This record gives sequence, C-alpha cells and structure tokens, in this order.
Amino acid sequence: MQVNCPTCGVMTTWEENRHRPFCSERCRMIDLGRWATEAHRIPGDPAPEAANEAARESADAAEGDAEQRADDRTGA
Ligand SMILES: [Zn+2]
Repeated sequence: MQVNCPTCGVMTTWEENRHRPFCSERCRMIDLGRWATEAHRIPGDPAPEAANEAARESADAAEGDAEQRADDRTGA
C-alpha cells in the first residue's frame, strides 16, 4: 500500500515505514510542529491554561452566589 506524505505529498509506502503516514521523521516533526503552532493560534484564548482554570473556578463561585441571592428573594 502506498500513501501520500501529509507534509510534503511524496508517495511513500505504508508497510515497513516506521514514520507512516509520513515519508520520514522530518516530515512527521514538521506536521507535529504545525499542529502545535495552530493550537497556540486559537482566537479568543490568549491566556495560559492555569489562568483559564482560575477564571472558570471564580465564574462558578459567582454563579452559585447569584443563585443563592435569587432563592433569598423568592423566599422573602
Ligand atoms: Zn514527507
């Protein structure tokens, strides 16, 4: 079976190819690097993961407070 290398498009064999579906380790690394670069380019998400976690936690806490206040209002 023959496949086209996703990175450079050259025909390469699937069997006996330790870098499949890429033609070489170099092309595999290029593809990995491309994915990593795109992951860093996701729009609207410039903050590091740790900051996102903290923001999510404080958002959950604020939501809980709002629900409690609503319950107080309906109870009174
Ligand atoms: Zn290649």
